[in-house]
Formats: sequence, structure tokens, C-alpha cells
Amino acid sequence: MGTGFGARAGAAVLAVLFWLGLAVAGLAQQQLSGLARLDPARSTLLDDARGAEIVLGISQPVPFRAYLLDDPPRLVADFREVDFGRARPDAPAGDGLIRDIRWGGFRPGWSRLVAELTGPVRLDAAVEETGETPRIVLRLSPAKPEDFNARVGAPASALWDLPQPVDGGPPHLRQDGSAPLRVVLDPGHGGIDPGAEFGALDEAVLTLTFARELKEMMTRAGMQVTLTRDEDVFVSLEARVTKARALGADLFLSLHADALPEGQATGATIYLLNDTSGDRASQRLAERHDRADLLAGVDLTGQDDSIASILMDMARSETQPRSERLGRALAASIKGAGLGMHRHAIQHADFAVLKSPDIPSALLELGFLSSPRDRENLLDPEWRTQMARAILTGVEVWASADAAEARLLRQ
Ligand SMILES: [Zn+2]
Repeated sequence: MGTGFGARAGAAVLAVLFWLGLAVAGLAQQQLSGLARLDPARSTLLDDARGAEIVLGISQPVPFRAYLLDDPPRLVADFREVDFGRARPDAPAGDGLIRDIRWGGFRPGWSRLVAELTGPVRLDAAVEETGETPRIVLRLSPAKPEDFNARVGAPASALWDLPQPVDGGPPHLRQDGSAPLRVVLDPGHGGIDPGAEFGALDEAVLTLTFARELKEMMTRAGMQVTLTRDEDVFVSLEARVTKARALGADLFLSLHADALPEGQATGATIYLLNDTSGDRASQRLAERHDRADLLAGVDLTGQDDSIASILMDMARSETQPRSERLGRALAASIKGAGLGMHRHAIQHADFAVLKSPDIPSALLELGFLSSPRDRENLLDPEWRTQMARAILTGVEVWASADAAEARLLRQ
């Protein structure tokens, strides 16, 4: 149980400070009202090549479990439930066992901590100290790959089982304008996955704020709108797609505001699915989203059934032209409203969230958090209203042409 760890670590300790981010007035509304709260002042991370210790000071004891996962190697701790507030750990220096660490809401009622590891480890201790100042202590030491491999895997216990995503849902008829348009809006990221961050701003909060505003506007226009998340909670990419399919959505629109390290990206950009082409920057953006999802969530992806995937390809070949037209309608409407678009307004990349075989889907980067002008726009309610109106118009134009085509094809 990590004997001597304290003495060992004491020699060359790297103490990482925790800092409190400032909430952005009017935007950052932490939705969790957890029973236990993190106390950053009593929380520490010690990490060097010989061992790591994570201490979380909490306001009261909570049930929790910790386990190791592989590909990539990581330590996961689930809590029921800890409100981490706006506290964020600093990035570890990288010369120890931990490459990166983050935490946040995972499912309603659940919080999660994920530490991405630099290599195979042993989980020496995962204990909760109750009493006056409750705390959770997690200790790791380096291990041989075979020892690590023998111990990885999420524990299977009914008490801890999280709901599994349900399959597909019934196939539904293509929309023909005879019923309200069923729109699923997908605010990117959330919970343990804040998305892009710039100072105290994070993408997860911005996309949720915008999605709520757009939902209200679309609902007033007679559409039936559902959000894939309506709070600051993690939803896996698979669960987002599953939800849209279960609802029989006519349209799936994922909302993002990423940062690009190139620093050049500015203006709204529409991404459509294409797993073969796409420039390097677009592809990297898509990979980053997949990776964030993999790190934060337990990978539940099943084996690809070859017959199912052929059927999916067939459905996709009918849906893809409809998605392309959706992209063009959105771009035309956003440009027409005089709102800045990226010089390549429509791009293609392999985003997992766009892979519904039978639902026209697009991912909209409202702007880039790395661009000062876009940040200003995203924080301006007037700009957001104009953008929401332009999206609504684009969707209406697309939906009526799409419905006309459906009626024609049926004759
Ligand atoms: Zn994003």
C-alpha cells in the first residue's frame, strides 16, 4: 500500500498548485449541486518518476471507485458526487507518471477524474479518509507493462453500472414538411471535457449558452428541438448520436467554438463528414475531439458488424448529399447576414459525431476561441442573436427544399 511513498516522493517533489478560475458573469453557471465540494486548498498533486499522489480535499465523504484503463493508459476515479466548481488542476510538468489530469461532471449525479499516464502504473492506494477533514488519496507507482495489463479494466458491479447507450432506435421516414421539423442541437463538450479554453472561458459553457438561445428561437419558429445536453455534464460522442437517432431527428447540428494553435482561424466554419479528404488542420480538429471523448469516457464501442456497416454506408450515401445541401444553406444564410465566415466556409473532416447514417448532420464552429474577434462575438448577446437567426433561416431554407425533394421522390 505505497509504503515509503511519502519519504520517496519527499526528496524530489513536484507540488502542483490548484487554481480557481473566474466565472464569466452571465455565462458560467455551474449546474452541479453536489453533496460534496472540492476544497482546492486541501488538494495536491505530487508526481515524479518514482510515484504519484493525488489528494482531493472534499467537504464530506462520498462513495467513489478508482481503476486503470489502457489505450491510452489512464487512471479513472468516479465519484458520487463531487462538485469541482471552477477549480482546475495545473498541467503536470510531464516528467512524472501523470501527463495530464482533469475532472468534472460525467453523468447527472456522477463526477469523474481522469489522469492520463505516461506509462504503465500500479494503483497502490485508493482510500478515503473520513473525519474532520475528509479526503480521497490515490497513489500510483511505476509498474511493468505485464502487471499493468493484468489490472486494467472498468469494474463491473451493479451498484456502479452507468446506463449503457441504447441501440439505433426505429428508422424513420425522411421529413416531408408535414410535421414539425425535429432538430437535435448538440452543444459540444461538457463536464469533464471543457473543450477549448481561453482564460476563464471554456467552449463547453459557450456552446451550451448558444444552444439554449438557438433552441428557444427555433421552438418559436415551430420546430421540435432537443439538446444532447442541457447542463454542464459529459456526454460521449456515441451517446449524442444515439440520442439523435432514438428521437428520430430530421437534422443534427453540433455546435462548437474550438481553438486552433495556428492562431489564424477566424470566423464561423461548417464541417461536414468526410473520412477520406479534409486538410490536416480539419483532421487534427476531428482527432482531438475523438481523443477527448476517449480519455473522458469508458470506451463502449462494440465490434463493427460487417453487414451492418454495409447497410450504414448505403444509408449514408443517400444522406450525404442532404448534409452537403444543409451545409451550403447554412453558409449562404450566415454570409447573407453579414456575419464573418472563415475563408473556407465549408470544410470536411472525420468527426465521429457526424456519423449518423440516416440523419443529415453538420458541425458548426461558431467561431474560434483562439481569435480575439471571435471571442468578442461569442460573448456578445446581440451577435449571438444574429447568428442564431441566420442558422434558423438556413435550416428553414434547407428544410423546405429537402421536403419538396422528398415529396417528389415519393411520386
Ligand atoms: Zn469543440
